[in-house]
Amino acid sequence: MSLVLVEQETQLPEHKRERLEKQQYRLVGNHSAVKICMWCKESIRGKAECYKNDFYGIPSHQCLEMSPAITCNKRCKHCWRDTSVFSTGWVGPVDEPKDIVDNCIGARYKLLLGFGGHPSADRNKVEESFVPKHAAISLTGEPMMYPRYPELIKEFFSRGFTTVFAVTSGTVPETIRALDIFPTNIYLSVEAWDKEMYTKYCIPVIPDAWEKFLESAALLKSAKTRTIMRITCMKGINMDAPEKFRFLVDIMQPDVIECKAYAWMGYSRQRLLLDNAPDYGEVDAFARRLMFATNYEIALSKVGSDVVMLRRKTPRIVDCTTFIYEGLDKEKLRQQQFVKEIVAKLEVKNA
Ligand code: SF4
Ligand code: SF4
Repeated sequence: MSLVLVEQETQLPEHKRERLEKQQYRLVGNHSAVKICMWCKESIRGKAECYKNDFYGIPSHQCLEMSPAITCNKRCKHCWRDTSVFSTGWVGPVDEPKDIVDNCIGARYKLLLGFGGHPSADRNKVEESFVPKHAAISLTGEPMMYPRYPELIKEFFSRGFTTVFAVTSGTVPETIRALDIFPTNIYLSVEAWDKEMYTKYCIPVIPDAWEKFLESAALLKSAKTRTIMRITCMKGINMDAPEKFRFLVDIMQPDVIECKAYAWMGYSRQRLLLDNAPDYGEVDAFARRLMFATNYEIALSKVGSDVVMLRRKTPRIVDCTTFIYEGLDKEKLRQQQFVKEIVAKLEVKNA
């Protein structure tokens, strides 16, 4: 009788792990990853902060960028990640949220230790960076595919994180529906104004992805947190008719729309051209056209990050709670109030 060895089913078999580690990801448990982003390094060197510092007050050097799901149900052309490591659905075991957060903080600490010796590193910032206060659940894949995602949000807040930003491409509306504690901000990534464009450029590998995306947009209309539609602007693809995004704005009614330039980087260089990457002026022109097609106005912008923020002129009201973006100072106050309320809720639940 011959013995047949079957590799245990797991989201990240060894060859995929090795490939990602070479790309400076640190893999955590069975399906999570952490990395030090460019802006975190720039911040520690005292050179620059990412635009989320200007728009939302996030200190880049204390930002933990991670994902609980190195898998995705799309294969977007503009994706800078190595999409060949993604599976279609959830594969293998599901790790504990507590272990994911513990191990991400630990792996990030080790990465930063190496960086601390850099000659231009600011000692104080290095020290501060060891204690992340902000979680960006966005590093790779579709984080909302993690089956225990709502618990992960709570885990971050119960650890003293002051802000938690969630990014989704909207293909898992059931996770949005399951959130009992919201993150500080939810980003919906948007690239296409119709199903044909979506299918061609976002390349979903699950059925009904466009419909699920629309469902997520509709759910976010009544989300009790800051909601952000982020449009990745790709020249020659989705910038010719900004007004065609209006129907999506009507469905989601986000507090904020970020129009952000596609950057020709990483693996996306194999699928798109440098010409698809607009400059700041082109993004600004796009944002102004979108502004005229909607009830939004330009609030902030940042050259270099090539992003223009539009904000609602009128508040979004959910169950008597008012949501409107009113600038950095008020946003910081909102975040402080938001986290206070969440911590109080979590204490009541744990009592
Ligand atoms: S929000 Fe994103 S880009 Fe900005 S510092 Fe955090 S991980 Fe980096
Ligand atoms: S949804 Fe995000 S992670 Fe998935 S393929 Fe698209 S850009 Fe990449």
